[in-house]
Amino acid sequence: MINHHLSDEIVWAYATGSLPAGHALLVSCHLELCQGCKARLAEAEVLAGAMLQTSEQQKPSDDMFDLLMARVENEPTLSAGAYLAEPKPEKGVPSALWDVLGHGYNGIKWKMVGPGIRQFILPIKSSEGESARLLKLSPGFVTPEHSHHGSEMTLVLQGSFSDETGRYKIGDVQEADEHVHHQPIADTEEDCICLAVTDAPLDFKGFFPKLLQPLFGI
Ligand SMILES: [Zn+2]
Repeated sequence: MINHHLSDEIVWAYATGSLPAGHALLVSCHLELCQGCKARLAEAEVLAGAMLQTSEQQKPSDDMFDLLMARVENEPTLSAGAYLAEPKPEKGVPSALWDVLGHGYNGIKWKMVGPGIRQFILPIKSSEGESARLLKLSPGFVTPEHSHHGSEMTLVLQGSFSDETGRYKIGDVQEADEHVHHQPIADTEEDCICLAVTDAPLDFKGFFPKLLQPLFGI
């Protein structure tokens, strides 16, 4: 069961097509795994469509919100089936990610970036400063403690990890910004594979992390 979902801001940005490629990929992967966020996206899309229509037809007025809500309520609700994902070519690999990789996790050419951590930079066209990568943490791997200059979104694809903010399992999303200072630790049963998207370099603390940072390339 998924406990950590997309924020309203991210759902809205996705609905209006304003997310950069890496973030959009992460959201698509979560949506394949989460019925609840699919429903939230459907609502946001209806609202975004209504706003677009309204802005084309008239200038915004005090009645605009009422008008929008009336349109949203009249819109036929989408059945859950309308958003069912394509069949997954390999168990556990979201189709959106498969489309980028062209294969499953087994075919990934991981690069070792330190003891117990491997990464694969995803070949997607990102906006300036955005970076999207898969990370594979060995069981029990302790990530260097770090904070952020910008934002970091992480989606768990296999295994699980925990940090000061909770436990993250398959499908869970973590959104961290410059106020979050954390140290994710992979759970011990199996490798933890995550999709991580950052829009600015991570700010690692301490000696070992400083060595690690150039290896990460972030
Ligand atoms: Zn969700």
